[in-house]
Amino acid sequence: MKIIDILNSGKLHLSFEVFPPKTDGAFDSVKAATEKIAQIRPSFVSVTYGAGGGTSRYTLDIAKNIKDKYGVPTLAHLTCVSSSRETVKERIEDMKNAGIENVMALRGDIPAELEGDDRSKWDYNYAIQLVRDIKESGAGFCIGGACYPEKHPESHNQKEDIAHLKEKVDAGCDFLTTQMIFDNDLFYSFMYRVREAGITVPIIPGIMPITSKKQVDSALRLSGSFMPKRFKSLVDRFGDDPAAMKQAGIAYATDQIIDLYANGITNVHVYTMNKPDVAEKIQSNLSEILGK
Ligand code: FAD
Repeated sequence: MKIIDILNSGKLHLSFEVFPPKTDGAFDSVKAATEKIAQIRPSFVSVTYGAGGGTSRYTLDIAKNIKDKYGVPTLAHLTCVSSSRETVKERIEDMKNAGIENVMALRGDIPAELEGDDRSKWDYNYAIQLVRDIKESGAGFCIGGACYPEKHPESHNQKEDIAHLKEKVDAGCDFLTTQMIFDNDLFYSFMYRVREAGITVPIIPGIMPITSKKQVDSALRLSGSFMPKRFKSLVDRFGDDPAAMKQAGIAYATDQIIDLYANGITNVHVYTMNKPDVAEKIQSNLSEILGK
């Protein structure tokens, strides 16, 4: 099933994100966790793509397994920045042969070892080039793209970032998913600006339930997202009590989702990160609201 057909139903839909194993030895445990997440029956499961690593093939294995075994639609991520066009072509062909219908087209972060490179020699500099190649493959994929309510760290300002986003959408993105946000107001003002810029595709806000003090630092470092005072107080109060921190983090994410839905946003992506217990708790917290 194509994700774009789920997004327009008008009811609250939650999608969950999982990531592939970083080593071959971890495959079975990661697969088991992703299967548990699929059994909660989110609207779709997105499977991230390990940046350039040797285990990137597992994205496809996990996405195909969830789709075939549980009938849950999947979104397979694909990055391009450190790949050749030949490799990307093979990956697109593999996805087509595996029956994948939805692809998240990403540039990927620039690997540290390539920072000083002559970028004009790279096959891919930006995600828009991947979007075009996926479109040109003729496989008819539903294509997702990433967007950044607080602007991408490489952009000089939000206006420039949104102008590039418009070009990416015009190249063929059917929908967008945001970087994690901890303050819904940033998302609402971003929505105003992107609609004003003429971007009309559905935009799914990304919510990350923070369940440990350690996760706070890594999430902020990776995303560069703003941490509101209300959330900081929560970490200060519960950070040293793992069970309480987990409960408070899940409650905070649940509250964000309720606020989004109350303000007319019907699709929310939850960065569940291979944690079935967190996915289950969020879903059960919203049991009366889901589907209404
Ligand atoms: P782009 O859309 O190419 O944008 C990158 C930067 O380039 C932006 O600043 C943009 O404004 C600028 N830009 C775009 N076009 C031009 C142009 N023509 N000229 C000048 N500047 C331009 N990473 C992974 O490795 N694996 C994953 O699975 C993964 N999943 C993600 C899912 C989501 C929802 C998000 C938000 C991010 C994800 N990432 C993932 C991280 C992502 O790869 C990085 O944020 C990366 O740095 C940018 O990727 P992009 O696709 O947004 O790039």
